[in-house]
Amino acid sequence: MSDNYEIKPLNLPGLADYHVHPDFSIDAVGSINEFCEAALERGLAEICFTTHYDSNPQSDGNANFISIKGVRKPAKPENLAYYVEAVQKAHEKFYPAGLSVKTGVEIGWYPGCEEMVPDLKKHFKFDFVLCGIHELNNTCFCCREHYKKCFERFENMEKMAEAYFREVITAARSGLFDVIAHLDYYKKYGLKHYGSEMNKAYEPYIDEVFAALKDSSTALEVNTAALRKGISDYYPSVKIINAAKKAGVEVSYLGSDAHAPNEIGYDFEAASALVPPQLCESED
Ligand SMILES: [Zn+2]
Ligand SMILES: [Zn+2]
Repeated sequence: MSDNYEIKPLNLPGLADYHVHPDFSIDAVGSINEFCEAALERGLAEICFTTHYDSNPQSDGNANFISIKGVRKPAKPENLAYYVEAVQKAHEKFYPAGLSVKTGVEIGWYPGCEEMVPDLKKHFKFDFVLCGIHELNNTCFCCREHYKKCFERFENMEKMAEAYFREVITAARSGLFDVIAHLDYYKKYGLKHYGSEMNKAYEPYIDEVFAALKDSSTALEVNTAALRKGISDYYPSVKIINAAKKAGVEVSYLGSDAHAPNEIGYDFEAASALVPPQLCESED
């Protein structure tokens, strides 16, 4: 399990966590049941599992898998079915105890996945579909092993940011996703690689990004994982969140991006100030 986050009740009960990776994700630990137990201990009212579904055929990484009982299977609908079934069972089990459990997925974006996503949605009735942009030119920029290779292909930071936001705009305009996850995720390693200039890299593109989000009714999440990576802000930064709201973009969802049960609802007391008060189904 990751580091020493204590699972203790939040001071604000009744919140919802809409970005959670159980051990069907190859980079996560903890079963669906363990996450649900942790969510109840934290006093969350709702949890939406969003396992990774990475299926870029051109990817040069090693992420195109779903872990089923510890065995890696290719990311295909017939394998995702085990996950969907397990989440639905968890809802039946935990709802009477006061926890609503939703079925979501985090689709790893790649150019061309506009055809794959509608097909996947035909197989499953998801409550929530997140778009996770993790790769540029088929190489991951958010994992330790690959980020350098990804960034170094670009002439400079500006070119990288331009390429990144082109993908964000295309993904949003596809209209296939409820939410674009962790909007400025490039800063995870970008701050290290390019320095603090990275914090401003979004500026030339953000109006166009907001227009694409608004036109397609695609929302943004407040993702608290950055704090666990030593970045003293969220994904995206509070500055971007406030500008998005001002531009009329929906910012509704809190996501811990938990990859272990003790990360569920991480920093939600503070983050909840940035989203509307109620998202989850009322228990009363
Ligand atoms: Zn992600
Ligand atoms: Zn995630």
